[in-house]
Order: sequence, then C-alpha cells, then structure tokens
Amino acid sequence: MRYSLLCQVYEELEKNPSRLKKIEILASFLKNLKKEKNKELIYLVQGRVFPDYNKQELGVSSQLIKKAISKSTGADESEITKLWKTIGDLGSVAESLVAKKKQSTLTKRELTAEKVLENLRKLTEFTGPGTVAKKISLVSELLTSATPLEARYVVRTILGDLRVGIGSGTIRDAIVSVCLGKGKENSELVQETYDKTADFALVFEKACKGKKTLSNVELHPGKPVKVMLFQKEKTIENGFKRVGKPCLIDMKYDGFRMMINKDNNGEIKIFTRRLEDVTKQFPEVISYVKKYVKGKSFILDSEAVGFSPKTKKYMPFQEISQRIKRKYDIELLVKKLPVEINVFDILYYNGKSLIKTPFKKRRELIEKVIKNQKWKIQTSEAIITDNEKEAEKFYKKALEKGEEGIMMKNLSAPYKPGSRVGYGVKIKPEENEFDLVITGAEYGTGKRAGWLTSFDIACKKGDKFLGIGKVSTGLKEKSELGVSYKEMTQKLKLLIIKTKGRHISVKPELVVTVTYQNIQKSPKYASGYALRFPRFTRLRPDRSPNDIATLNEIKREHEKSK
Ligand code: ATP
Repeated sequence: MRYSLLCQVYEELEKNPSRLKKIEILASFLKNLKKEKNKELIYLVQGRVFPDYNKQELGVSSQLIKKAISKSTGADESEITKLWKTIGDLGSVAESLVAKKKQSTLTKRELTAEKVLENLRKLTEFTGPGTVAKKISLVSELLTSATPLEARYVVRTILGDLRVGIGSGTIRDAIVSVCLGKGKENSELVQETYDKTADFALVFEKACKGKKTLSNVELHPGKPVKVMLFQKEKTIENGFKRVGKPCLIDMKYDGFRMMINKDNNGEIKIFTRRLEDVTKQFPEVISYVKKYVKGKSFILDSEAVGFSPKTKKYMPFQEISQRIKRKYDIELLVKKLPVEINVFDILYYNGKSLIKTPFKKRRELIEKVIKNQKWKIQTSEAIITDNEKEAEKFYKKALEKGEEGIMMKNLSAPYKPGSRVGYGVKIKPEENEFDLVITGAEYGTGKRAGWLTSFDIACKKGDKFLGIGKVSTGLKEKSELGVSYKEMTQKLKLLIIKTKGRHISVKPELVVTVTYQNIQKSPKYASGYALRFPRFTRLRPDRSPNDIATLNEIKREHEKSK
C-alpha cells in the first residue's frame, strides 16, 4: 500500500474534529485495507507499529530525529532547531525541509506503508555501540524517499504524536461499520474481542471473515489481556444493592495489578494492567507460581503487595513501584522489596477460557489450585456473606490491617476484560483523588532552575486529554514518593513534543495520582474544571493514560460536592 494513501487519511482526520466524520474517514480506509494481505498496517492508523499488547518503545528522541532530518535534507541542525522553535512540531519541520529539498532534486521513489512499518520496527532491535547511527540511518532512509506530507507523518509517528485525534473507540466503530454493520451487539462483540486480544490487526482480520469467526477468538495464556475494572460505592448497603446478596467480599490490597500467565508450553509470564511484560522484574513470583500453583496453563488475576522483609509490614504502593520498571539489580530488589501475591480471580485454566464461568466457580477453582503461602502467594482474604454487620466487621478489619478497603463482588458474574463494570464495587474511605496524566510542565527558577517543578495535569474525554489544572506541590528534591522532581524531569524530557520558553508540552504518558480539596468550574482549562489545591501523591507506572479519570467522573464529583 502506498504510504501517501495513509497520509491522506491522517490529513483528513486531522482536519475533521467530528467523531462521526472520523469514523467515516477511517471506514473508507479500512475498505482498502480489507483487500491488503498485511492487516498489521492498521497499527499505523493508531500511530503505532506493534499491537497494543506489545509495549516496546521505539526509543527515538527529538535529538535523534533532528539528526535524521539533517542527514536526509542537508539542513544543518541549528537551522532545524530554529525552525522547531517557530513551528513547534518536528513533523512540520521535516515537512517543510523535505519540501525545500524536493524543489532542488528530482529523485522520486515511492514510499510504501509496509516499508515504514518495517523500518520503524527495526528501530527497536538495536542495542549497544552504534545504535544511534543505525537508528538515524533507518529514519533518514524513510525521509529521503518521503514526500513533504509523508515526512510530516513519519516523524510524528516516531515521536508518538500523530495528532489525528483517534483512539481505540473510533477504530472499533470503523471496524464495526465496515465488517459487520452498525449495531450495539456488533459493537460489543468487536470491543470484547479487542479486550481479549489487545490487537486491532487480529480483530480486523477476524471481523473481515464475519461474526462467527470473530466470536470464536479466545484468550491465549502468554498474551496479555485487559483487566476487568470495578466501580465505586460509598456504603456497604449500596454495595449490596449493586452486586446482590450474598456476595463475596475481598480485601482491597494496596499494591499493583499482576496478571500471571502460564502458557500451554509451561512458560510463565507476568503482565501489568498496562499490558507490560514485567516477567524479568519478578523472578521470585515465577518461582512461587511454579511451586504453589497447580495446573498446565492458566491466567490468574492478582494484586502484588510489597512488604518489608525485616518488619514483615506491608508497604504502600509507591515503595514498590520502582520494581515495575527496574531493569538492573533485580536480585537485590527482590531481597529489599519483596512482593506477596494475592490472587483474586482466574480467567483461564488448563486449556479453557473461564471468562463466562460464574465468579463463584472461579473463586472455588483458585482456592483449589493455589497452595497458600503467606508472604509468597495466596488467595485473597475473603468472606461470602449477605449480612451487613458481618460485612462492616470485615471492612473494619481490612482498614485496621492497613489495607485500602474492600471489594464487594457479584457471585454469578462473568469476567469482562477491559470493562469497568458493576460486577464488583470498591469501598474505601472517602478521599478526593484522581489518576491524571501529565501533558506539560514548566522549569523552575532560582534554586530549582533546570528542573521541571510544575506539571500540567489532564483528564480524558473519549480520545482527548483535557487540562484540569497545574500541580506543583507534593514533590521533593529527594525521592520520598518513589519519585522526585529531578526524576520527573528526566522522565518528562524523553517525552517532549514542543518547547516554548520555560514550558514544555509532553506526550501524555506519565500517570500520577493527585489529591485535591475541591473542584471548581473554570474556563482556564480545556476540561472546564480546575482542581483546587492539587497535590501530587504518587506516580503510577502501572497505569496507562487510558486508565485516568474521565471528564464525566470529574463532573459527577463536582456535582456531588455542591
Ligand atoms: P484504585 O485507584 O482505587 O486502585 P482503580 O480505579 O485504579 O482503583 P479499580 O478497578 O476501580 O481500579 O479498583 C480495583 C483495583 O484495586 C484493581 O485494579 C486492583 O489493582 C486493586 N485490588 C486490590 N485488591 C483487589 C481485590 N481483592 N480484587 C480486585 N482488585 C483489587
């Protein structure tokens, strides 16, 4: 497929803010893609080169892009930097420099979408000496045969900043309309298949073959699945109303979600709720699973909680969050910050998917297959009750033990990957907090010059991120919350999209938990709301921008507080 065809689609998407129009544009592209052999080109529409479950980064900085632009257009780097400052987007910089060069040369080679996908994937394959030069070559090879418009989108794709305003919901709807025909049922089927596989190429390929093929797509242990999420309730009474009586009540542990997979070949893999593979980071968990979980293949849903090996006290999440991303000194960290796995659900067992099996049966199965070992792996502590007093007692016990609260779960519910359904509700002491994403930041002055100290935070509406305030308190120079503003600066510098004076705009990637005093209406921010007295409480490397608070949730909280 010609890459220019895809670029026309990007351009149209960029020009049309209406969601319906975007679906229409995408649908007409998918009609073309239907005829192509390589359905993986759909990843490029998402601004990606791998399926969503594959979290590999391309690892290309703005600096490297500048060098590649320079190599392919002959412009020198200072000229590129100057242009970048005025235009504000490296994609447009590449576009204008390629246009300038094309006027003086006449070479014309056609760029295919397959070639773009191939070169961008290769970017992830290098490590060690010479990596930078090889990456520059791959990018500049693309830019050399690109038209100005193609150069714009090659660069934006590499930087993860496509700016066409589509997310998974829009792609889902376009697939529905092209392959199955509009309708709630079809839309749910496509969504479910995506939640099971986190792979739009696979979903599209199966959808092209019809409804039946799509419905037959099953879970695959070893490949990450989107986790089921829960809703919130204020009281146990309301909790019972939502999930029915009797229900199962679980401790709500303060750790992070771990999906433990054993595939049909016996290989064990661990994924976070962002679908990141963290197997290497948790060797102790692998050994617990081998020793204490029976079964040829399975997918377990669990919460990993850190504890102090000396005092045997549980630690708050931020203490162990560093284990998620850590690539070195793993064994040392296993000793210093061990985790205990609390298994609360099972989605697959010995070759069979259990997502349609009632929760009560799934729970009975985990109790059968896990040999409980305190401080290693165990089934979550739970009771089954229809009695409010008993439930209150359990809630009190959870809080006394230092857990976050409780989860109340419907005993006959299926497991719905990827959905925030009312099959379970969480109950925890009221706290004003949201998970939000950082979209920009500002350098400090004086003692803090050189470090980013104020952060723009945003909630989401559909596929868009909308500002809801700035947060500058809570972070210290030293790493008390698992992260300091110095560390934040390093992390955010890798995500820069645009620089203007002391302010930078960044790719929405870092998720943080922010507490606040109250919410006000405010024209100053795109969401129409502002958090008052926001305070940074923790960095959430286990969450993705898809998991953050939605504008509707903010509105609801604002209404409630009035
Ligand atoms: P929170 O920020 O309160 O953890 P969330 O919005 O990120 O919530 P929810 O699905 O609403 O996610 O809350 C459930 C989360 O709590 C799960 O994602 C999981 O990580 C954690 N958790 C701890 N204990 C349990 C349990 N027993 N059952 C289910 N989830 C649990």
